[in-house]
Amino acid sequence: MKIKQIEIFAVDLPLIKPFIISYATYPNIQSIIVKITTECGLVGWGESVPDEHITGETPHSTYAMLKNTLAPLMIGQNPMEFEKIHELMDKNVHRAPAAKAAIDIACFDVAGKKLNVPVYQLLGGRYHEKFPVTHVLSIDEPEKMAQEAAQKVEEGYTSFKMKVGQDVLGDVKRINAVRERVGEEIAIRVDVNQGWGNSANTLQAIRHLEALGIDWLEQPVDQDDIDAMVEIKSKSTIPLMIDEGIRDMNNMREIVAKRAADKVNIKLMKCGGIYPAMKLAHMAEMAGIECQIGSMVESSIGSAAGFHVAFAKKIIKSVELTGPVKFSKDPGDLKESYCIPNIQLTERPGLGVSVDETLLAELTQYSDAVE
Ligand SMILES: [Mg+2]
Repeated sequence: MKIKQIEIFAVDLPLIKPFIISYATYPNIQSIIVKITTECGLVGWGESVPDEHITGETPHSTYAMLKNTLAPLMIGQNPMEFEKIHELMDKNVHRAPAAKAAIDIACFDVAGKKLNVPVYQLLGGRYHEKFPVTHVLSIDEPEKMAQEAAQKVEEGYTSFKMKVGQDVLGDVKRINAVRERVGEEIAIRVDVNQGWGNSANTLQAIRHLEALGIDWLEQPVDQDDIDAMVEIKSKSTIPLMIDEGIRDMNNMREIVAKRAADKVNIKLMKCGGIYPAMKLAHMAEMAGIECQIGSMVESSIGSAAGFHVAFAKKIIKSVELTGPVKFSKDPGDLKESYCIPNIQLTERPGLGVSVDETLLAELTQYSDAVE
């Protein structure tokens, strides 16, 4: 099987409400969707949602990288040879993981369709039957965050990811307000998105948070400061997760060597897709570090890819892939798999996502085809 054509679509995905985290506000999400067609007529879908704050890639740079470099390289390649595909991409392009993820995901989709199995079957088979869906609370006033949490509990949600990272004492108030409103039984995870900057601020916050029963504290400090995480971990009873600071195997090697985290948040857009994500999960497992699969708020295509990795691995304990329930329009149909409070995957081949090409055309700003 050989790749004959790669189409690239720059797409604007409309959000139901803006997504606000410590370093940015997103009114909608810019995504690059890739469609691979093989010589035998099979189609595979991939997606890239780059975040320049984390990998330095923008939607424009990713589109150009795919159109001018990665897609031409892939023409004539066998999409089922994952190790070779990644070797070829890595030899020609340093980093650019989100662009590579689009190719990787499309290759897995087409390989699954060729063999008539879901992607998780290519990754060791299904391990998890379902995952709880976490509702993400954007940064807001404490009362508003508590109110939204209470409403979501009524809808059936049992866990929350709170986005904080503005100022330590204000954030402590936010977390307190949500905990008071939802009670002790509901899971709360706190994501600072680097907003507290250093270990001193973080340790100040931790003193206030230790009694609140939070599941974990995520990326409180600057993404490159692994040593600060080591210091915080030695002084905290709250489990610590690294997110922005774990992008590739080099970061993971340092985190493992320094025992810098209890958990890591693996995202396909940071590491280059399904195949590298599996390698990171194996490294973490060897070191006794638990994993989450997160996302950059991706459509059904990218989100499904993340779910297939998560469903196949025992060491992956949680997921945070809520894109399909955040968008008012999504070219894929993964939303149907969200049965709040859980998500379950179908047994359809490949990613298991069917793409509405009319809707995709409607959401596309510009596109190219490489053959
Ligand atoms: Mg995070």
